[in-house]
Amino acid sequence: MREYEVEEDRPYTRVYAAVDLDAVEENAGAMKAVLSEGTKIMGIVKADGYGHGAVPVAHAIDPYVDMYGVADIEEAVNLQDHGFSKPILVLGVTHIKHSDRVVRRKIRPAVFQRQQAKALSQAAVRLGETAFIHLAVDTGMSRIGMAPSKESADLALAISRMPGICVEGIFTHFARADERDKAFTLRQMEEYSGFIKMLEDRGVSIPIKHISNSAGITDMRQADWDMVRAGISLYGLYASEQVETERIPLRPAMEVKSFITYVKKIGQGAAVSYGGTFIAPKPMTVATIPVGYGDGYPRSLSGKARVLIRGKSAPILGRICMDQMIVDVTDIHGAAEDDMVTLIGRDGDQEITVEELAQIGDGFHYELVCNVGKRVPRVYMRKGRIAGKKDYFADRYEGAF
Ligand SMILES: *Cc1c(COP(=O)(O)O)cnc(C)c1O
Repeated sequence: MREYEVEEDRPYTRVYAAVDLDAVEENAGAMKAVLSEGTKIMGIVKADGYGHGAVPVAHAIDPYVDMYGVADIEEAVNLQDHGFSKPILVLGVTHIKHSDRVVRRKIRPAVFQRQQAKALSQAAVRLGETAFIHLAVDTGMSRIGMAPSKESADLALAISRMPGICVEGIFTHFARADERDKAFTLRQMEEYSGFIKMLEDRGVSIPIKHISNSAGITDMRQADWDMVRAGISLYGLYASEQVETERIPLRPAMEVKSFITYVKKIGQGAAVSYGGTFIAPKPMTVATIPVGYGDGYPRSLSGKARVLIRGKSAPILGRICMDQMIVDVTDIHGAAEDDMVTLIGRDGDQEITVEELAQIGDGFHYELVCNVGKRVPRVYMRKGRIAGKKDYFADRYEGAF
């Protein structure tokens, strides 16, 4: 077996995802540099930081963000348990049974129904605390939020007057800001501003008004308001191929690396992998890679995608298995067991991007990074050196089965 000289070249023997925290920090800085004066950033670290690891990402962006955004209360608690003290907004619906916990921990829930607000108000009064909330407004997603109507404005007024409640923020979410045509997005902004006006007419003024996501950050300065919610762009990916990529330089933070486990020659007519969907048209040299859909590498890329070995493309042959795949190294001179394999990222002057994989597998780049499995350890890089690691190898359960 080949020996690698430095730990950085082989922190794990099978597969790992390297997350460059310098890239994450620079991406946050690049956004900060173009935002309107005074606009705050909420760093969205839901789904464990889009698969990158919420805690190290939150550390890396800390100098640039004023708040964090997560999907549920458990993600918020996890950040707090790791020592983060900035406000955390839960973007989805928080069940009223968590009201005490939310208030005690000063987690900001998204609120848009009377019962939610009432439960939080009661909890706040009982605990002698303040419940900080953000009102969610539905301007075009039909997902969560109150309609931007007169009745909602009256409800918002009532909520703002409930004892123990502080309406710190109000937000809506873009449905189509990642499209070149911004007509729908501009309509959402009008709905939102109209609603803010209705609130102001009722004497309700809310300090943090926020609406924009990564697509808005690249394309729409007029959507900055008091704060923007930066998600995918922190991780170095543009929201879509239709957004402006010139103004804000982003660097993808994640690379996925593996190592060849076996190289062999196969004869003409040999069948490769399940179903024999690939039959060697000539004698070939193939390499086995110990990664599969059980690691989150999509099976839909079978026979379509490539990996990089020695700076060259090695096409995937036949079906991707749960834990392994087979690639063509016939034209990669010297390809050998233990050679590094790049599934996502750079090798020499070649690069495989998440967008490339999303496109050929009919997938979605956000989903690909989120789905990098828990069998794939994460390795955190700072200045080209390993700064930390996270693996999920220890497998502990609670309870009796
Ligand atoms: C996920 C999410 C974001 C971040 O979106 P990106 O496109 O990743 O920037 C912002 N706001 C809300 C409400 C979200 O759910």
